[in-house]
Amino acid sequence: MKVGIVGAGMVGSSAGYALAMLGIVSDIVLVDRNAALALAQAEDISHAVPFVSATTVIAGDYAELAGAGVVILAAGVSQKPGETRLELLERNAAVFRDVVGEVLRVAPDAILLIASNPVDIMTQVATRLSGLPPQRVIGSGTILDSARFRSLIGRHLGISPQSVHAYVLGEHGDSEVLGWSNARAGSVSLKSFAEQIGSPLTEDVRQSIDEGVRNAAYKIINGKGATYYGIGAGLARIVKAIAQDQRDVLSVSIVTPHIVDVEDVALSVPRIVGAGGVIADLIPELDVSEYAALGRSAALLKERVESITL
Ligand code: ADP
Repeated sequence: MKVGIVGAGMVGSSAGYALAMLGIVSDIVLVDRNAALALAQAEDISHAVPFVSATTVIAGDYAELAGAGVVILAAGVSQKPGETRLELLERNAAVFRDVVGEVLRVAPDAILLIASNPVDIMTQVATRLSGLPPQRVIGSGTILDSARFRSLIGRHLGISPQSVHAYVLGEHGDSEVLGWSNARAGSVSLKSFAEQIGSPLTEDVRQSIDEGVRNAAYKIINGKGATYYGIGAGLARIVKAIAQDQRDVLSVSIVTPHIVDVEDVALSVPRIVGAGGVIADLIPELDVSEYAALGRSAALLKERVESITL
């Protein structure tokens, strides 16, 4: 499969690198309005390839995306001093207005994988602009938040994050909801597992895991200015599910017809992901407070997306 990446900045190039390291696609094409940057990133990634795989990595213009099975959209502009969140959103929506049309002109059958932030809003914008069914316009959503959640739970229980089944739902951002009540380790409820091994999930432990998940990005940005390796690997993971028709259950964002009391809003719940994109949504069983929090997150996203003029 050929994978296109539009936006060869930190996130786009990290996704390209992670994909090249997985060695699961034949071609990666990087496109950026800064052609010199796209070329430099492609060259750098292609020099890592001989150590692990045979993926072809090139930079090109939109025409090179012809035949792509997935196109990752990681293009965007950063906040100007004094700019409001809404103004930034409008400028990023304008970037997508250019990019989505260009991509679909040459790769009408591609699944769009959205990485630009705020990812839920940008996913909804891309869905509207493309006219594609929501199942084919997938935002990375909370895939990374869920990975952080599992990793912190796994650390507390002394087990691999892969043996923890836990999802972060709703917005990829401040209103996200950690699904504690349905989380499991192996086949056992988290609470029971923690008690059986003598490391109970006290309120303090839960609080510290919650903060760790919620504040992870802020902490990284304080230290190095941006986050990109984690999301790069998360994007590669979604591409793998599509390219290999794995039907993995991943928490990703697509426009969802109905969630709690909100209609047509892009947010994350666990979904089955395979060759055609999202195959099914899995609405988790939540306790009363999680359900209410998911409703608040959905309502907030809906309000934000309605404020953008397209
Ligand atoms: P991030 O950390 O999210 O990757 P960057 O600023 O590093 O942010 O990368 C965003 C990239 O998107 C930049 O390389 C920029 O040139 C690119 N970009 C912005 N607007 C467009 C556009 N209209 N078409 C293609 N690429 C774009």
